[in-house]
Amino acid sequence: MLDRIIRGGTVLDGGLGAARQMDVGIRNGKIVALGDLHETEAGEILDASTRTVCPGFLDIHRHADLAVFRPEFGELELRQGLTTIVNGNCGMSAAPFGPAHRTEILSYLSPVIGTDAPVCPDSMADYLDAVNARQPRINVGMLAGSGVIRADAAGFAAGPLSAEQLRNVHKGIETALADGALGISLGLGYAPDCFYDTKGLIEALAPLRNGSVPIAVHMRDEGTNVDRSVSEMLTVARALNCPLELSHLKAIGTENWRRKIPAVLEVLARSRREGLRVRWDAYPYTAGSTQLLHVLPPEVLEGGTEVLTRRLFDPTVRDHIRKRLAEGEDYNNISKLVGWENIIVSSLRQPENRDVLGLRIPEAAALRGQDEVDFTLDLLRSEHCIVTMIDYITCEEDIQAILRSDMVSLISDATYPSTGQPHPRLYGNFVRMIERYVNQLKLLTLPEAVHKMTRSPADALGLKRKGRIEIGADADLLIFDPADLHEAGSFEHPARFATGIETVLVAGVPVLKNGILTGAAPGRAASR
Ligand SMILES: [Zn+2]
Repeated sequence: MLDRIIRGGTVLDGGLGAARQMDVGIRNGKIVALGDLHETEAGEILDASTRTVCPGFLDIHRHADLAVFRPEFGELELRQGLTTIVNGNCGMSAAPFGPAHRTEILSYLSPVIGTDAPVCPDSMADYLDAVNARQPRINVGMLAGSGVIRADAAGFAAGPLSAEQLRNVHKGIETALADGALGISLGLGYAPDCFYDTKGLIEALAPLRNGSVPIAVHMRDEGTNVDRSVSEMLTVARALNCPLELSHLKAIGTENWRRKIPAVLEVLARSRREGLRVRWDAYPYTAGSTQLLHVLPPEVLEGGTEVLTRRLFDPTVRDHIRKRLAEGEDYNNISKLVGWENIIVSSLRQPENRDVLGLRIPEAAALRGQDEVDFTLDLLRSEHCIVTMIDYITCEEDIQAILRSDMVSLISDATYPSTGQPHPRLYGNFVRMIERYVNQLKLLTLPEAVHKMTRSPADALGLKRKGRIEIGADADLLIFDPADLHEAGSFEHPARFATGIETVLVAGVPVLKNGILTGAAPGRAASR
């Protein structure tokens, strides 16, 4: 007797093979039978005879570290087919860190993971326990952020680590992994991870040597020097002999569009042939979203956001920033790479700044009678640096080249701002992959698109029971008609649920059934 049978669906198993019609039998949260199960009894039969059945989608690059504790968490994710998300990306994770640098670390994390939940665990084990105690609707995995681990050991000071600090970084990594982190994330574009040089990075990540734990990296430079940044990470992966995931691969900047990515993809293909375990991921939008303070040169971030807020009163610092914004080419100088007009203020906290929310920087600056630099610095100062932006940074041709490449996983990089507008990827990312790139543009076949949202991301993090339909796999499953999928949100109106995902099972239990939440919450902290 099975718990459930999904009957007669057109099954995509997460691999690249064609769909096959079959029944899927489920017991105790696992897939236990495949094929013709007409003779088998089950507690419930879910008819899928005119539907596609595939593994639930995984988003291995999200920033829901604190959002998982919001009461509504899980719905916008389920409605785009997600059954597992992974947080703790870009060097920033809600754990582990102790009291030594807590205030600075929280202000470093808050623009990306928010400030809204009272969860502040010291260890990754405590964090994952809190996730399980909260009983989410979907599964939640964590990476341990290298930036957090470094800041816990050494604050936000630049330069190489002392021997004792390095020992503490190693201990932080080892403990987080033993506690259940699925990998280590790096935020090399941000302080304090940007203070590692290549050699220092290899030393810091020594606990990963010759293992199967992946490094997921937000690279040092995603613009003019993205090729150098890729080479740096290939050097690190070669030295450590460990798996490497290049996060949100792109080339920022009008000058770099259509030029850098084809060359980078060739280098990556060559590295794979050489035997390096390198993979990459991307989100399917030409605009990104991050903290506004990342338009600034990284050296001014030393000491954390409160220190920066105070520095922004200093005319010497402001002159330095103005000069660097005009000339700097040694970092992701976003306003120079894409122009201020491609940067939109998307969330902030102070009521007196509400008038500039949703505006492009030149419009907002004009409203205040300022130039773009003074406006941006004053806005950051008045918001204590906690402002997010939507920035139009990449081009569609590059996105398509990356999505077509063989080792890519689809990710969202979604954040969950508690005020202002989110990026539409928060709601629509995974449905968009099929609606736009399979149904409309025919860039990918349906099995390819599903693969890049299921088995590929599961393999990237070594989640061997997820992202596939096979005997023994976790019964995280979707039932839908691909022709019906629709991303309802847009940049103007992002907060709209995607439509068309009808039924979602997590651990064998229907959580969404014919478009209605069932109230079940079988999600767990994801582990290998
Ligand atoms: Zn990132």
